[in-house]
Amino acid sequence: MNDTEQAPPPETTKIAPLRWQCCHCGGGGLDSYGDTCRHCDGLGFC
Ligand SMILES: [Zn+2]
Ligand SMILES: [Zn+2]
Repeated sequence: MNDTEQAPPPETTKIAPLRWQCCHCGGGGLDSYGDTCRHCDGLGFC
């Protein structure tokens, strides 16, 4: 017997988010000065 066939891992069909957590404010929408993050315009994503 040479039963080495392995089932392939199930494909993950997760929908990737269109935006990612802002690399500048970390998703808070505010910069270190408490002002609206100019990198994401306060959205927290860029
Ligand atoms: Zn960013
Ligand atoms: Zn930001």
